[in-house]
Amino acid sequence: MELSDEEWKKRLTPEQYKILRKKGTERAFSGKHLPPDKTGSYTCAGCGQKLFHSDDQFDAGTGWPSFSKPCGKDLVEYADDYKLPHKRIEVLCSNCHGHLGHVFGKDKDHYCINSLVLNFEATS
Ligand SMILES: [Zn+2]
Repeated sequence: MELSDEEWKKRLTPEQYKILRKKGTERAFSGKHLPPDKTGSYTCAGCGQKLFHSDDQFDAGTGWPSFSKPCGKDLVEYADDYKLPHKRIEVLCSNCHGHLGHVFGKDKDHYCINSLVLNFEATS
C-alpha cells in the first residue's frame, strides 16, 4: 500500500504519523494496551493488517506493549537501525511499511511496539 505524505497525514493522528511514517517513539507508559486485559488481535493503525495477538503479549515492564511474535508469517518486515550506538532491528508493517517498533533478544522474541500504531479488536 503506497500513499503520499499528505494522504498519510489525513489518515493518521499527528502522533501516529510521527511513529509510523517518521519512525518516532511514544514515551514509555504513555500509550495504551498495557497490560493485556482481553483476548483479541492487534491491527496496524495505518492499514488494518492483523499483526499481533494478545496470546503472544506479555508485560516486559518497559512501558510499551510487548509480544513474543507476530500472529502470522510475513506480517512484519525488518530493517537494521543504527540510530543508537548499538544496532537495533526495526519492525515494520509488511503491508504499508509503517514503523511499528523494534525487536530485541537473542532469539528475537521480544517485540517492543508503540501502542499508538496498534488498534485492538477484542474477540472475547
Ligand atoms: Zn500497516
